[in-house]
Amino acid sequence: MAAFDPNYLVCSFRSPFADCKNQFNELADGIYFASIVTDEFCDHILGCIRDFDDERKNDAPESANSMHWNAIKTKQLGIDPLVYSFVSFFDREISRHILPERLRVPIDALHSYIVRYGQSWDQGLGFHVDDSFLTLNICLNDGFTGSELVFQGERCPIHVDTGSSAEEQICIEHKKGSMVVHPGKNRHYVNQISSGERYNLIIWCQSDTERDNWFDALKTGECLEFCGMRSSS
Ligand SMILES: [Zn+2]
Repeated sequence: MAAFDPNYLVCSFRSPFADCKNQFNELADGIYFASIVTDEFCDHILGCIRDFDDERKNDAPESANSMHWNAIKTKQLGIDPLVYSFVSFFDREISRHILPERLRVPIDALHSYIVRYGQSWDQGLGFHVDDSFLTLNICLNDGFTGSELVFQGERCPIHVDTGSSAEEQICIEHKKGSMVVHPGKNRHYVNQISSGERYNLIIWCQSDTERDNWFDALKTGECLEFCGMRSSS
């Protein structure tokens, strides 16, 4: 499976008349959840992870980012063409049906990796924002409990450590083949895993403009348009 093929979409997405908007559950402003890819798609990636682990038993994987000990870059798994073609499919066929205009900016770069949670791996993940304007997060397996993804609302860098309102607090239980789409600057964390192992494909869609705006705001101290503190103040 070198490139993404629409056959790896679940039936409800495959029909030429599929109404993407109805397939996605909008859980909060900019956060969407849908069952989207088949078990075959997930199992293919899990197989690549197994092969990688077998070949590299004694080598530490390159660090995918500073927050995860056990993440593996998709590049190391040889699945970048698959990831890139999936994002291009999402960009072409799905984003305009679900995303507000502010989240449909040109993608300048992608950073993608597999996260693994389990008793002998990362067990949870602290509160953070992503280095992305939009993140796609696909769960690759079943058979775990806990490890829910919890959102706390979008913030600019000035207000990143402020509290959240009840409406901003969204807790998502991952399911194999489901995807969470969310703004990178919606703060989130991962609850401790209680049993089993969870594998997810994380794709950070990055924009030079978004990143510049973020760092400019840090310098100027000005709150950004999307920040939840603007509407509450
Ligand atoms: Zn702000």
